[in-house]
Amino acid sequence: MSKSSSSTVRKKRDDKDPVCGKHINRNKAHITIEYKGEQYLLCCPLCQAEFERDPEKYVS
Ligand SMILES: [Zn+2]
Repeated sequence: MSKSSSSTVRKKRDDKDPVCGKHINRNKAHITIEYKGEQYLLCCPLCQAEFERDPEKYVS
């Protein structure tokens, strides 16, 4: 039983945690945060907190 991924996925960034740089499986990400129309995957609460504290530092 596999959930088909979204049908209208635009070309997106790598599924990568911008904080720690780890590649993340979208289905296993701790959380997905949308920031300025882009989605960012965070692997853990620590990275989430770090990202939310200073998102500009991690988006480019
Ligand atoms: Zn991380």
